[in-house]
Amino acid sequence: MVEEIGGGVTTLAPGDRVVLGWRSPCGACRWCRRGDSRRCRTPPGVRDRLHLADGRSVTQTLQLGTFATRTVVHSAAAICTPDGLPPEQACLIGCSVATGVGSVLNTAGVWEGARVAVIGCGAVGLSVVQGARLAGASEIYALDLEERKLSAAEQFGATHRGPGEKLDFVFDVVGLPETVAQGLDMLGHAGTLVYIGLPRPGASAAVDLQQLFDRRLRVVVSHGGDHVPALDFPQLFQWAGEGKLDLAGMVTKRIGLGDVAQAFDDLEAGDVIRSVILF
Ligand SMILES: [Zn+2]
Repeated sequence: MVEEIGGGVTTLAPGDRVVLGWRSPCGACRWCRRGDSRRCRTPPGVRDRLHLADGRSVTQTLQLGTFATRTVVHSAAAICTPDGLPPEQACLIGCSVATGVGSVLNTAGVWEGARVAVIGCGAVGLSVVQGARLAGASEIYALDLEERKLSAAEQFGATHRGPGEKLDFVFDVVGLPETVAQGLDMLGHAGTLVYIGLPRPGASAAVDLQQLFDRRLRVVVSHGGDHVPALDFPQLFQWAGEGKLDLAGMVTKRIGLGDVAQAFDDLEAGDVIRSVILF
């Protein structure tokens, strides 16, 4: 059962499965009120239930919690999954897939025939590749330091390896000053750099203003692909069911809750796209 704190109650039938989303719009902020719910930055949450001895709240990661067998969330965060979609695939939609595909379709608005590059081909970058394929991009360049990730990118739809030139869109999933500079260099006239990677605190990048002006470049930031769970998850479920979105290929390992430390080591070593915990 999903209880909406302070409001109505959404009841799930036994056996219903949900994917939790961390970006549900509040419906009340100035961005939501003007119809731009994808820019909302105050997702509804539940009342704080746990406190430290000094009174400070112990809050859930992104209002959802993680590595937990039980959690309390706002009803807007729980999106029912369709029958037939394995849970270890459906869960990927909650973050990496929604971020990658949403960055292409929501944030950037990649058009059919566009020439696109992705810097960083982990799970989010591979989802960008899939989103670019869904959008009908004519060329998809994959950049990564690891041969395994480039090979994976090709499996998910990348058409070229290495930097392209005069591109329409570059997606920076790494977020370093060097990748921002490289991404801007790769853009052509009126190209767009989509910044997805989380910056390190205090990081800054030098921007060639002459290049920015002459080429009429844009830099846009994507927070989780600017997705709205209630709008986007059902569409992503549908594409997965139709075989247009490859989720199975992104699940490298199925693990138990006790294997989380090893899963992080595997991730850092580049041995997995995603390890999924089965409860
Ligand atoms: Zn809002």
